[in-house]
Amino acid sequence: MNIENYNAILTSLPTSVLLVAVSKTKPNEDIQTLYNEGQRIFGENKAQELRTKYEMLPKDIEWHFIGHLQSNKIKYIAPFIAMIHSVDSLKLLQEINKLALKYDRVIPCLLQFHIAKEESKFGFDWVECEAMLQDPDFWALKNVEIAGVMGMATLTDDENQIRSEFQLLKNHFDRLKAGYFPDNANFKEISMGMTDDYQIAIEEGSTLVRIGSAIFGER
Ligand SMILES: *Cc1c(COP(=O)(O)O)cnc(C)c1O
Repeated sequence: MNIENYNAILTSLPTSVLLVAVSKTKPNEDIQTLYNEGQRIFGENKAQELRTKYEMLPKDIEWHFIGHLQSNKIKYIAPFIAMIHSVDSLKLLQEINKLALKYDRVIPCLLQFHIAKEESKFGFDWVECEAMLQDPDFWALKNVEIAGVMGMATLTDDENQIRSEFQLLKNHFDRLKAGYFPDNANFKEISMGMTDDYQIAIEEGSTLVRIGSAIFGER
């Protein structure tokens, strides 16, 4: 736990950027400590772990789901989740919509793009995403709200590489906004930037940085 780092990060963020404190694998005491400092947005990547934390911790925490989400796990988080950053198929979005309807909610979701070189990362490419947006089934979903995009850069020391990947994500955002969400004020988020690359992400237009180890320590 590093409160000094937390405060330094908060102070350095432009007002247009919100901090998602990534608390995955960390105990409730650490989350409560940061909550006591005033932090309200936390990010987790495992549905059941998140459900347990939700039940134990203050109810005004805004929980963001940032990991790969399996359809059969949506039920653990659907009643309360504030945002799902990792939608990468129409099928998943339809399942989220179904559960959101059941709980009489509209769940804000981000479209995750694969922008890194690594094979293992999840996410749409541009063509797949456009195919979804041209499917009438997508526009029929009333209990999810598409709030923007998310992406993870390659794990590398090459700053130019990272920067160009974030520029690609920003470009996807701009094209989606202009082409499909021009009158939708809720389509506004660009979730990019982690402990090692959030400063570059902010320079390239991030609105949500997801920072874990700089605040909570190594996992
Ligand atoms: C773990 C994780 C983070 C935070 O990573 P740090 O390097 O610890 O800041 C951000 N985004 C996603 C999707 C993650 O899984």
